[in-house]
Amino acid sequence: MGKNKVVFFFILFWALFIPRPIASYINKTAEVPSPEEFFGFKMGSDRKIARWDKIVEYFYTLERASEKIKVVNMGPSTEGSPFLLIIITSPENMSNLNRLREINLKLNDPRRLSEEEVRALVSEGRAVICQSMSLHATEIGGTQMTPELAYDLITRDDEEAKRVLDNVIFLMIPCFNPDGQIMVTDWYLKTVGTEYEGTAPPWLYHKYAGHDNNRDSDHLNLVESLYAAKILFRDWMPQAYLDHHHMGSYGARFYIPPYCEPIRPFADPLIWREHSWYGAHIAYKLEEAGKTGILNAAQFPGWGHFGWHWITPFHNIAGMLTESASAQLATPLFIHPEQLRANALQFPEYEPQTTFPHPWPGGWWRLRDIVEQKKIAALALLDIAARHRETVLWNAYLKAKRQTERGAQGKPAAYIIPATQHDPLTAVKMVNKLLLSGIEIQLARRAFTAGSVIFPEGSYLISLAQPKMGLLRNLLGRTFYPDNTWTRDREGNPRRPYDLATHTMHEFMGVRVDEADEIPAGEFEIVSGEVQVKGKILAQAPAYLLDGRLNDSFKAVNLLLDKGIPVRRAEKATSEFQPGDFIVPVSPKSQDLFAEIASQTGVDFKPLEKLPDQGTHEVKRLRTGIYQRYYGGNMDEGWTRLLLEQFAFPYASLFDPEIKKGKLNAKYDVILLPHDSPGMITGERRESWEGQLPTYPPEYRSGFGQEGVEALKQFVENGGTLITLGDACNLAIEKFGLSVRNVTEKLSSKEFFCPGSTLRVTCDTSHPLGYGMPAEALVLFLSSPAFEILPSPRNELYETVVRYAARDILQSGWLIGEPILANKAALVSASYGKGHVILIGFRSQHRAQTHGTFKLLFNGLIR
Ligand SMILES: [Zn+2]
Repeated sequence: MGKNKVVFFFILFWALFIPRPIASYINKTAEVPSPEEFFGFKMGSDRKIARWDKIVEYFYTLERASEKIKVVNMGPSTEGSPFLLIIITSPENMSNLNRLREINLKLNDPRRLSEEEVRALVSEGRAVICQSMSLHATEIGGTQMTPELAYDLITRDDEEAKRVLDNVIFLMIPCFNPDGQIMVTDWYLKTVGTEYEGTAPPWLYHKYAGHDNNRDSDHLNLVESLYAAKILFRDWMPQAYLDHHHMGSYGARFYIPPYCEPIRPFADPLIWREHSWYGAHIAYKLEEAGKTGILNAAQFPGWGHFGWHWITPFHNIAGMLTESASAQLATPLFIHPEQLRANALQFPEYEPQTTFPHPWPGGWWRLRDIVEQKKIAALALLDIAARHRETVLWNAYLKAKRQTERGAQGKPAAYIIPATQHDPLTAVKMVNKLLLSGIEIQLARRAFTAGSVIFPEGSYLISLAQPKMGLLRNLLGRTFYPDNTWTRDREGNPRRPYDLATHTMHEFMGVRVDEADEIPAGEFEIVSGEVQVKGKILAQAPAYLLDGRLNDSFKAVNLLLDKGIPVRRAEKATSEFQPGDFIVPVSPKSQDLFAEIASQTGVDFKPLEKLPDQGTHEVKRLRTGIYQRYYGGNMDEGWTRLLLEQFAFPYASLFDPEIKKGKLNAKYDVILLPHDSPGMITGERRESWEGQLPTYPPEYRSGFGQEGVEALKQFVENGGTLITLGDACNLAIEKFGLSVRNVTEKLSSKEFFCPGSTLRVTCDTSHPLGYGMPAEALVLFLSSPAFEILPSPRNELYETVVRYAARDILQSGWLIGEPILANKAALVSASYGKGHVILIGFRSQHRAQTHGTFKLLFNGLIR
């Protein structure tokens, strides 16, 4: 027997025969390298950032050395780095992880449990606490803290650490945005010692989403979101979730829970009490440790966006946030006392108040300060959960039970997603997003009646008598943002909500959802797993029709065009077609390809007896360029790229030098300016903002200037199409001298205010840009431009494709000054030379979430 074999059998003997208590005592902590030994510096040291790949290596090193830590690779990030879940708990819990996870899930949906069973589960279960770090990649402190936190937890031998490991399963997402972590680290290390040291990278720190990666936890467009949804919403359902961020440099040193006013409705009230309870312990532990400048119950309202920490309360998870004052990445920042200021919600003065009893006096502020305060906060949450394990678990049960009861007693009792939809494939996408969020959905096997309406087989029923009732009410119920003392300042000016004023998913997606006041009788089955729709070739025919109302028909058309298959488009309504329907003639060997594309996109190929003689034209896919700038990048640009990729539209990214060079018609048919302020696009207004904008190396000082404007004018005059989205419309109006006025410009917020609301519009479905749209639709309006065509001798050059309703314009959100918008144009196409300028004022493709208006953009990318 070789030496290795002896060692092997020795280990095997120990593993098999040593009684558990002794086995758990034996660990290899002596061999665990400390972060300082492993990385060569203390975490958070001045001008040092550990890179994600190295941190990953460290966690695997810890896993090899200790039974208290397990590394789960959830899969690759958008750009291929590992997205990790770190599980830290006692070796006993670790060996019983599946059972403990099951117990936890049962407590979070106790519909089929007796109270006696619940008590047994509470006694056997462990508190599950999740914390995530550095979702926003420049907010580096969280991720830098994690090696130290993990090391401390697995090597400390005191009562506190032992209590945490015995009573808590700690789920740590050490880096929510691995791609961004790498970008920021590399940029920082490249610029350190130069005049650009401490600046953020000049581009988006997530390939598509940048900072908006925290605005995706309902729609789940990003792979990182899919991993987090699996951990938080389905696999684990932790009792508490704490997401660690940074904020500006000149206010409080550290914001910790709870949130302040206003709060979003429909969470279980215990949630808000839990925030205060956890937050108080975190504050107490920070004060105990001598930390100053700690603020809670202020600055961050309970009604925010639907990012991770703000959506989790509606999953019955105590979702919370910390925000550390930023240094300049790893470069220290000196702050004078008189530079410190409050000026935030429920934090009016930089003076002591009950939620800010111990102001920080100013001085040097370093990454190490951030690492230390975050570590204390992270441990404090674990500590209080460990001390009160059974209370925490019992309350998880109570929240789920009470929310289910509220849903059963309230009205509506259920939401119905009818099988009959303008775009049924998009309705299925919505069903799948809800399933990924852990919502229970039933499919009707037969037609059923609710109220006086008959719903066909294949409709979906969502009962509100389920634990995530609060999430459903927010996503599928009409929402009005409060207009009251909390949401107006002293002068009566409305305060901008933290994000949108509504997140009503079906309204964004153009999906019809009905309400039922009673649970309808019928034959239903619970939907298990993702709903997959595979389109079919419905019968052999000389030509096929693809429904122009389906967003996915555009994907199918793109896939066909990629293969060189010609596609035609119907221009007029006939007995067989709607304007915008696609017609695909059969060519030899195309049947297999059609079947594959139908299956892949869900779009049925409907048989046509013959090709129509007239009223159609061959579809030309336009060569598309999307303008991209620096200064931190433009999130709307990133999401637009993601959307075009999702629907298989080819595009090129266009930067300043190429635009300024001119002759754009040689390469492009369409140029898209994503939503952005005209000053940032041209760079003209950048000079006056220089104080706030970071200074970048010359190659990143973007803005195409008058030269770019002239090149774009030339491009349109020669026959190109310029599509401007959101605020970029103002650039086109101003620089091209269009006879169009933005009616929302230069109004005070008391006169007009509409921060992220769904508004009613009518669409001209006979106009090529309106093809496939319903005659009445909802658009997402986010402080958007809206248009009036000014009288001119050439009025005929302007066409209004989408128009705001005459009255009752607001569907959900907040709208002050409805008459300003009544009957005004929302989407205008202007002829200019031989080409066109298309103004889409509202957010047609916002965060790749507004499926209901994607077609208005897609129609501009083909002809
Ligand atoms: Zn953040």
